[in-house]
Amino acid sequence: MLIDSHAHLEMPEFKRDLEAVIQRAKELGVEYIFTVGTEKKDWKSALEIAHSYPSIYAILGVHPHNVKEIDDETYVVLKRLCQDENVKALGEIGLDFFRNLSPRDTQLERFWEQIGLAKELGLPIVVHDREAHQETLEILRSGKAEECGGIIHCFSGDYEMAKACIDMGFFISIPGTITFKNADGFREIVRRIPLESLLVETDAPFLTPEPYRGKRNEPGYVRYTAQKVAEVKKVSFEKVAEVTTKNALNVYHLSS
Ligand SMILES: [Zn+2]
Ligand SMILES: [Zn+2]
Repeated sequence: MLIDSHAHLEMPEFKRDLEAVIQRAKELGVEYIFTVGTEKKDWKSALEIAHSYPSIYAILGVHPHNVKEIDDETYVVLKRLCQDENVKALGEIGLDFFRNLSPRDTQLERFWEQIGLAKELGLPIVVHDREAHQETLEILRSGKAEECGGIIHCFSGDYEMAKACIDMGFFISIPGTITFKNADGFREIVRRIPLESLLVETDAPFLTPEPYRGKRNEPGYVRYTAQKVAEVKKVSFEKVAEVTTKNALNVYHLSS
């Protein structure tokens, strides 16, 4: 059994064949999928999908790309929707200093605020960090994020950063980029991170692993990421599936 700890099934890329995508994931051994609604207009559809399939849960939050659109109503709606028992985390929240689609100051402020919201709601957080490793660590620390814990998704930092996050009670989630030809540096980092702190994810429809790189990603392909993690860490695929599943159930507070 595998868990795709992070996908975006409410995105338009899945409008046409969502049912088939979910069925294929099942056939490839994916028991649960966590779908992430990244802005207010997507929250309802993420929740609807979670309500329609017993194997799917929702994660809701405002992505750093979208934080510039936060208004008076946003957190009120977010808090209300997060009361739903199908919502298992607040996210993805964080910093994206690569694309900078929202001003950096706004990203920093809204990240900090949403950590506070997660603590208030008793939910773990799902953190997006792109080219903002140092700032991400600083806000996790100053926001006392160890009180809610969570996941650094699509991890792209170095080993020291992984270690610092793990020490704060976070899990490190590995995307399909680990299968890429030029990812030797990343594979070496993953090799050093204990399996007990790892999750696997697709971030579908993005970041498609080999052998499907270039095509649309989907939750079933988390299998290729898990296989690569097994190869890198020189353990069996079954072991990776077992431990990452246990970790995901643990961080999302689901009893197995
Ligand atoms: Zn992300
Ligand atoms: Zn994502």
